[in-house]
Amino acid sequence: MSDTLSGEIVIAGTGPAGMIAALALSEAGFRIVLAGPEPRRDDRRTVALMRPALAVLDRLGVLVRVADKAAPLRVMRIVDATQRLVRSPVVTFRANEIGEESFGLNMPNTVLNEALEAAIAERTWITWRKSPVAAWELGAEAATATLEDGTNVSARLAVGADGRDSPARAAADIKTTSRTHPQAALVLNFTHSRDHGSTSTEFHTETGPFTQVPLPGKRSSLVWVVQPEIAEELPTMDDAALSLRIEDKMQSMLGRVTVEPGRQVYPLSSILPSRFARGRLALVGEAAHVFPPIGAQGLNLGIRDVEDLVRTASEHRDDPGEPAALSAYDRRRRPDVLARSTAVQLLNRSLLSDLLPAQLARSAGLGLLHALSPVRAFFMREGMQPGSGVARIVSSFRDQLRI
Ligand SMILES: Cc1cc2nc3c(=O)[nH]c(=O)nc-3n(C[C@H](O)[C@H](O)[C@H](O)COP(=O)(O)OP(=O)(O)OC[C@H]3O[C@@H](n4cnc5c(N)ncnc54)[C@H](O)[C@@H]3O)c2cc1C
Repeated sequence: MSDTLSGEIVIAGTGPAGMIAALALSEAGFRIVLAGPEPRRDDRRTVALMRPALAVLDRLGVLVRVADKAAPLRVMRIVDATQRLVRSPVVTFRANEIGEESFGLNMPNTVLNEALEAAIAERTWITWRKSPVAAWELGAEAATATLEDGTNVSARLAVGADGRDSPARAAADIKTTSRTHPQAALVLNFTHSRDHGSTSTEFHTETGPFTQVPLPGKRSSLVWVVQPEIAEELPTMDDAALSLRIEDKMQSMLGRVTVEPGRQVYPLSSILPSRFARGRLALVGEAAHVFPPIGAQGLNLGIRDVEDLVRTASEHRDDPGEPAALSAYDRRRRPDVLARSTAVQLLNRSLLSDLLPAQLARSAGLGLLHALSPVRAFFMREGMQPGSGVARIVSSFRDQLRI
């Protein structure tokens, strides 16, 4: 016999975005049914989360569980490692330039997921069914999810946190614009003989970024974006040869490199839905935006989706899935998601482009960042929290004009 559950909100997807949404919405007083399998335990990626995202995790009781397995990011550097005619100076962002101790923390995805699972297990207002959604019915009054284990879940609002291919998004007939990039990311972790000094370095190359991000101790994670065929080839190299190749690529900046076991390849694509909510469904995380991993934006943006969803659902407490609530959520998310995905696309294309104007524009932009500390400060604040760079400029004008 099939089981029937009802909650105020059903969330599909148990990646970080779905689990954070479950915790945040339950904290706001909603009864949640979370549907999805246990998160994968073999994810080799790490995730750099900026201070505003960490503040959300702190409020949800998750930060304390990850803090000792995460490394602070105090300095972020961009190095133009292209062989192009026009090259940019090294740009260095220091958190202390904007009065912060660090920009955020970098942690293994598995550490974050385990901490989220443990926090969920302590919440009585979250019922987790470890089964994927097999079918959706998104009606005028309610959303019903039929799970693979036969359970029917009905709720006023459905949240699609079911990743880049989002079956929930397809069920709501939300169209997408998508693009496969001629790039893939090789992901691995490595130890090194010199201290990283809490510094992350993003080398810009003709195939995409090569990014080292600190982990606790003399360890770092690497996201190396190359052509898909190279990404398939690199992991087949033996440890010594690959370690040497990476050390070489980083100009021995961290001394001797030794790769750790476990290499993964992620093909890169971009996906943008035409709407962020429709027919009792709101999208969060990669269901709502996918773009190449440049500048650690993806999950930071996903956590901002969750914050806007909590705000909107709380303003429409009687029926968080009503059309007015979904329109408000769509309006709130649109500027932030479009701005971030456009910026990442432009930067990525300017790296790949052989065209001189694109290279000049990138170089001029990085040159300004290198030379002007107020411009750097603006971008550092905007990078962490949209609007905060603008807010700081407005407040400094106000101080000067005493208004
Ligand atoms: C190489 C790389 C490096 C990155 N580095 C960073 C970084 O430093 N900082 C940052 O902010 N972001 C980073 N990102 C982006 C970040 O990893 C993603 O934004 C994040 O993992 C997306 O989480 P999610 O929960 O939306 O999706 P996912 O983690 O894909 O989770 C989706 C979940 O939905 C489940 N699911 C699928 N179908 C169903 C169904 N029918 N029913 C129920 N559940 C279903 C899946 O099982 C899965 O658990 C990086 C990405 C890449 C590729």
